[in-house]
Amino acid sequence: MTNMTRDFFIGLSNNRFLNNQAKKWGFSLGADKFVAGTSVESVLQEVKKLNELGISCTLDNLGEFVTDKTEALQARDKIISLLQSIHEEDADCHLSVKLTQLGLDIEKDFCIENMKAILQTASAYNIFVNIDMEDYSHYEQTLEVLRVLLQDYDNVGTVIQTYLYRAEDDLEALKDVRIRLVKGAYKESEEVAYPNKQAIDENFLKLAKQRLLGNAFTSIGTHDHHIINELKAFAEENNIDDAKYEFQMLYGFRNDLQNKLAQEGYNFCTYIPFGSDWFGYFMRRLAERPQNVNLVLKDKFYD
Ligand code: FAD
Repeated sequence: MTNMTRDFFIGLSNNRFLNNQAKKWGFSLGADKFVAGTSVESVLQEVKKLNELGISCTLDNLGEFVTDKTEALQARDKIISLLQSIHEEDADCHLSVKLTQLGLDIEKDFCIENMKAILQTASAYNIFVNIDMEDYSHYEQTLEVLRVLLQDYDNVGTVIQTYLYRAEDDLEALKDVRIRLVKGAYKESEEVAYPNKQAIDENFLKLAKQRLLGNAFTSIGTHDHHIINELKAFAEENNIDDAKYEFQMLYGFRNDLQNKLAQEGYNFCTYIPFGSDWFGYFMRRLAERPQNVNLVLKDKFYD
């Protein structure tokens, strides 16, 4: 994908007007390939199916860029009710949340209170909550919020993006915290992030290996089979305990590989987004890979 096309989709993903409009459209543009419905019932059915295949899940009740307190409180309540449903269904499933959905752009302390309410319920049910990492303008604040939450809760972690030069230092500071490692999905300036793919991939491998040799749990979030194969070999050579890591992929991507890894006995977790606020998430997926655009166009126009 050319940089121009990538920038085009990333630009769309950040467009607040389109993000708001899309909530009213219902699913369109082929978003249902990558987003598992709008209701809790439908997404939990999907979770159950995957659990039967030995795959655990992390649910993202989609939402970001919230600037209205009432909307952030509604998001908080929906997430708490989702936790209750996960508990009642006894699903093998944790949560992924975005802090801008819970008021980070309104007021940091308000966002912290919302996260505390979520973590209180989650810890009563023994459910882990991961804070997705958003663009760099929210990075420092996300880590600050995490540090506050870690003072009272141990069922919370976050995501570190290997396109950032500072990723290694941040991982060192978070060496006892559960982390998902990813390459990074946003358009960032060369001042903070590696501009070329090879450097990002090399940093991913280097940091993933450091994490595997450390003590805390790591989710390896990638669809890249080169990286997955190298890490599988590394884990075997170094007798890394299976309980220390899992592979994670997004719902709708490389289903064969997802099933294969689970069948081979690796801990595997599928990240499942659902809900009406699908636009930003979907545009970032189109930005990542030209084939995703082709897949969607093929379904829309050629079937
Ligand atoms: P890429 O670098 O896109 O691809 C590398 C190679 O892998 C390709 O050349 C191809 O050979 C192969 N490949 C990749 N995808 C496919 C496919 N669909 N079919 C066939 N081959 C393929 N980003 C954030 O910034 N914050 C987050 O919180 C965040 N959470 C994430 C959670 C999960 C579970 C995952 C998987 C990703 C998350 N991301 C997040 C997105 C991530 O940062 C990357 O943008 C995204 O995963 C693309 O990078 P990649 O490593 O999967 O592979």
